[in-house]
Amino acid sequence: MDTKINLLDLSLDELRGFIAELREPRFRAEQVWQWMWQKGVSDFEEMSNVSKALRGKLAEHAVIRPPTIDTVRESDDGTVKFLLRLADGALIETVLLPSRTHYTQCLSTQVGCAMGCAFCSTGTMGLARNLAHSEICGQVLLGRKWLEQKNSQDKGERSLRNLVFMGMGEPLMNYDTLVKSLHTLRDDKAFGFSSRRMTVSTAGVPGRMTELVTSGLARLAVSLHAPTQELRERIMPRAARMHPLPALMEELKKLPLRPQERTTFEYILIGGLNDTQQHARELVRLLSHVRAKINLIACNPAKDSPFAAPTMEAIEAFQQVLRDKGLVAMLRKSKGQDIEAACGQLVTQKQKEQARTEQADA
Ligand code: SF4
Repeated sequence: MDTKINLLDLSLDELRGFIAELREPRFRAEQVWQWMWQKGVSDFEEMSNVSKALRGKLAEHAVIRPPTIDTVRESDDGTVKFLLRLADGALIETVLLPSRTHYTQCLSTQVGCAMGCAFCSTGTMGLARNLAHSEICGQVLLGRKWLEQKNSQDKGERSLRNLVFMGMGEPLMNYDTLVKSLHTLRDDKAFGFSSRRMTVSTAGVPGRMTELVTSGLARLAVSLHAPTQELRERIMPRAARMHPLPALMEELKKLPLRPQERTTFEYILIGGLNDTQQHARELVRLLSHVRAKINLIACNPAKDSPFAAPTMEAIEAFQQVLRDKGLVAMLRKSKGQDIEAACGQLVTQKQKEQARTEQADA
């Protein structure tokens, strides 16, 4: 068994401690940190300003091991989905979403998810485990490297600018590692992302939303998807029971937002289930005491999902009700439909393929 420590799992402070144990000066930790995260180097021999003696000690006691790419799928609309394999064989997804000027990367925080949202492929898997710091920040290492290669081939200049924690898992159920990762992603000697360009999307974990907003490390988005507790229990059963809608809204009302800042609410419109004008009016009432911005997303049902996509008429009528009441409501296009880009679709498809192969081989 490999007992070497994966340096990508350490915070900068922890790396300083590790370097001190090797009886090396403190500044060496910053050098190694920059090689790993800023330059994306995983071979100690490439760390040219690090002494030969330290490179030898590092090779003896440590490794730099990001996740590996299992599959890459590119959509006609430019969306790129990666299936990543972790050291224990588990699979996770990360997605690069293009816009005219830049890319946004959607990140996973858990293998599977305990929340069991009915419209989500990841929800059908259950929770296997939390992701480690190396596995969360490693997704960004791989996404950024892939884009650099693509940009040099295409002579393009669209860089990775935004991060959204909306992939597999409930980020606030892996809170400590999420916070540690946000510090690394924000660090100028690592990735240098602005806190304003990192958004954590949650189904609502009591107390954690307030902690995250207070930390100022990232923006908050709340996956709401229903305007009443009863409907939310049908669509997002565990999340709705963990933080019932009245208590959730109470916590959101008291968030220490900056002036002008709004909480983003995600609302997936599911055909015939939560997309009527009556639902829109209930949503207006629910959000009347919070500074809200609403992202409407048309459901992109997986192949065997019982849910339907909403009609364009229903979407427009729903959006109009919100706008008539002065709410900011944007329709977000579902990207990468031809490559199963919605959360968890590619992993569940791969798991089914693997199960079929194992059966065929048995
Ligand atoms: S939508 Fe998010 S919280 Fe709900 S099951 Fe999927 S990954 Fe988990």
